[in-house]
Amino acid sequence: MATPYTSILLFGPPGIGKGTQGKMLGAIPGFFHLATGDMFRSLDKESEIGMEFARYSSKGLLVPDFLTVRLWRQHVEQLIKRELYNPEVDVLLLDGIPRSVPQAESMKEYIDPCMIVHLVCEDLSKMVRRMQKRATEQGRPDDADESVIRKRFEVYSGQTAPVLACYDKSIISDIDALGTQAEVLLRVLSAILPHLNA
Ligand code: ADP
Repeated sequence: MATPYTSILLFGPPGIGKGTQGKMLGAIPGFFHLATGDMFRSLDKESEIGMEFARYSSKGLLVPDFLTVRLWRQHVEQLIKRELYNPEVDVLLLDGIPRSVPQAESMKEYIDPCMIVHLVCEDLSKMVRRMQKRATEQGRPDDADESVIRKRFEVYSGQTAPVLACYDKSIISDIDALGTQAEVLLRVLSAILPHLNA
């Protein structure tokens, strides 16, 4: 089995469009999109781990690192077993993980990041508006409350942004996240392709 898994990390603050871009890229043969937010939300809400997730996400906090990485590993193994993701041929598009330096450290042996798509935007208030819209469309309680959104941005700057320093600058591409979904997708693909052929 191909471990460490060849991966592209989708990186950026909450609401920047990692999930939107990840889903579109994941529809292209040869890419597999794995979003940890979706992984957590698909858990049985009554299960112990489902309740643990709700306890943290409702406050805008990260689920503890050990639990997150363990669940992520089990999830990937299941995807391989069910033949949904084939590490021999698919590039893993990781969305929402690693989200802290300890996660990046403990995932070192499992992933081989060939590229980091760092989505950026000058005007974060646009991201907040996107998230509030998403809250009504998708019924996400962690997006509805402005104080929770603010907390998630704080957690992003304090715990997630430092993850970038764990990787070589040469594989990080800053990409403007403003524009239509197609415009951003074009920028992302143009940035990714040279790294895949390298
Ligand atoms: P967004 O795309 O808006 O940043 P996500 O859907 O990725 O949000 O994540 C929702 C919540 O799931 C996070 O606020 C956090 O509580 C939890 N979560 C997702 N990924 C991780 C992770 N790698 N480590 C810890 N918690 C996570």
